[in-house]
Amino acid sequence: LMHLTRKLIEIRSMLLSIDQSDALKLPSIVVIGSQSSGKSSVLEAIVGHEFLPKGNNMVTRRPIELTLVHTPAKADGKAPEEYGEFPSLGLGKITNFAHIQQTLTDLNLAVPSSEAVSNDPIDLRIYSPNVPDLTLIDLPGYVQISSMDQPETLKEKIAGLCERYIREPNIILAVCAADVDLANSPALRASRKVDPLGLRTIGVITKMDLVPPEQGATIIAGNRYPLHLGYVGVVAKSAGKKSMSQSAGAVAKRSENDYFGNHHDYFGASSSLMVGTDTLRRRLMEVLESSMASSLHGITNAVQLELEEATYQFKVQYNDRRITAESYVAETVDMLKSRFKDFTTQFRKPQVREKLKMMLDEKVMDVLEQLYWLDKRTPELGVLAADAKVKPQDVEPYWRHKLEAASSLLTKSGVGRDSTLLVADGLRALIDSIVSGDPFTHHPRAAERLVQFSHMILRERIGVTSDQVENCIKPFKYEVDVDEREWEQGRGRAAELFQIEVAMCESKLKEIKKKVGGGRRLSSLLGYVRSLEEQAKERKNRRLAGEEDVQEEPEAESYRYPPGQILDARHAILYNDRLSILKLRLAALKSKRCKAGPESDVLCPEVFLNVVADKLAYTSTMFINIELLDHFFDQLPRGIDSRLIYDLDRKEIEEFARENPVVRRHLDLQERKDKLEEVMKQLNSLSTLRTDTQPAPRRQ
Ligand code: GDP
Repeated sequence: LMHLTRKLIEIRSMLLSIDQSDALKLPSIVVIGSQSSGKSSVLEAIVGHEFLPKGNNMVTRRPIELTLVHTPAKADGKAPEEYGEFPSLGLGKITNFAHIQQTLTDLNLAVPSSEAVSNDPIDLRIYSPNVPDLTLIDLPGYVQISSMDQPETLKEKIAGLCERYIREPNIILAVCAADVDLANSPALRASRKVDPLGLRTIGVITKMDLVPPEQGATIIAGNRYPLHLGYVGVVAKSAGKKSMSQSAGAVAKRSENDYFGNHHDYFGASSSLMVGTDTLRRRLMEVLESSMASSLHGITNAVQLELEEATYQFKVQYNDRRITAESYVAETVDMLKSRFKDFTTQFRKPQVREKLKMMLDEKVMDVLEQLYWLDKRTPELGVLAADAKVKPQDVEPYWRHKLEAASSLLTKSGVGRDSTLLVADGLRALIDSIVSGDPFTHHPRAAERLVQFSHMILRERIGVTSDQVENCIKPFKYEVDVDEREWEQGRGRAAELFQIEVAMCESKLKEIKKKVGGGRRLSSLLGYVRSLEEQAKERKNRRLAGEEDVQEEPEAESYRYPPGQILDARHAILYNDRLSILKLRLAALKSKRCKAGPESDVLCPEVFLNVVADKLAYTSTMFINIELLDHFFDQLPRGIDSRLIYDLDRKEIEEFARENPVVRRHLDLQERKDKLEEVMKQLNSLSTLRTDTQPAPRRQ
């Protein structure tokens, strides 16, 4: 018979884990009473151990869902171990009840005093051969008077909390002290509100030893405030500290037996009054069992309905496809790795070489600008190149020095560091683009770890790589051999780059022309600005020549055109100058002289520098590939496995998967359906069990 309650208690806690709605609730016994009514003493008497928080300062701040599990004697006759468990804390078996008491105290005190009480229940299970299968919910005691350190709202908060728990189908255990008038019992008052006929309320009268026996007997006879389930009188005073040699329960029980034994004429079997903790325990078992039994039909229907709905939704929304947190994690990792692999194609040697070459081309342009385009003598080079009689070896040493300076400016510009950083930046951007896409938007912590890990690899490799590259391009700092074929290719590329530069300058000029309002307006503007410059130059010369009364630049003059346009004009002059030198050089690049080959290097520095840049790019790529890219693409996938996945435990995998709302909803519905199925199975097995058992006998 007890089998039924036990099963139903299991089912009850499964239902609680499915959802907290009232529709899916099996009854439990809810213990209410005012502070100091002896509530804790009664619960401890039922359990046979002291385990509840003690202290004057209202220590029960959270409901305690207390599940008692009867453990039958072992085959060898030895009593099984008694222990408690907090399933949600994962502390394992606790055999020392003082430990349980401490844990409960800590959990209660963790509720901030601003909140005073919390609705979040503490789940505690106690396994013992000395307890019946029962579920009890201990609630904070009703406060009679608000004291200084208890806020005024506390009273209402506790009352509200109790009110939620004493709703149907729960059974109310109303604890009242015999020495306090029942009319003043907040427990009975609360119970009458929700259960006016007292159909699901049991009265427990504590401290029977504090009133004369005839008065006690009158109270538990219950004529004044009748309860259908009756009153049970107890003496549950727990023993003082001095008798720790015996268990608290045993001492309390003895004093209770003594008391009722001494007053046999009032409380003996013939009185038909219910007294004693044992009787209370039995009574609770009976009441819980019959209440559960009568909820069975309703709950089975409710579960059936919920299950049908969940099954339907699972079919409709997910086509019955099952997933697990692990499979999601595995899929995510596969996706990450394959996306990663796709991206590696962007970092093959030709791609890297091209990127580096572009960077070096920029550097070449800077060097050319610095050393040639700004040099007024540079047009002479074109003239020399056009003159067939000039031999390269006869060209002034000036140009030879210039070329050497340009070449060394390029090779000593920090190519090792710049090229390594360029590739490393590319890798960072790659990782950023991976983690900013789906599904990592849902997993910010994993994304952060991946980013950090990749940055760590890069940090470790950047120094080594840039040193290595710098080392390998060292020979080019001294001399660069160029063969015919390289020369010809370099010439082609240099011409292309110049053409691009020319096009760029032309489009800038066009923009400016449009901005100032047409070609004619631009040329008059240019004429004006040039004349300003002439005048400025003249003034400067006169000042240099020692003339005293040279005027400052006449301010008002600038007003002929708005300052913005003067600035545009100055830019236009720069672009025009640049264009004319570029065109000169383009012509030189196409000259016979430049086509002749590497011996013309002095006359065609652009070609020479382009070939140097190409060699630098080639060598850098080779070593960046070995020192940086190979390491990176080798270590990152391993890091994904070891840092992202394998150090996750079951719980973290679950959390990771649930970070994705789509997966979370899927898992939730699937779990709900599974649990409902399991509950349904259990309920069905119960109904076959019930057909061959009689309803619980009731004590009169
Ligand atoms: P709670 O605040 O309702 O949990 O009440 P407690 O269980 O802590 O009891 C309050 C006080 O009443 C304690 O000092 C208990 O020792 C005492 N007490 C509880 N039950 C009895 C009883 O049956 N008889 C006597 N004499 N004292 C009791």
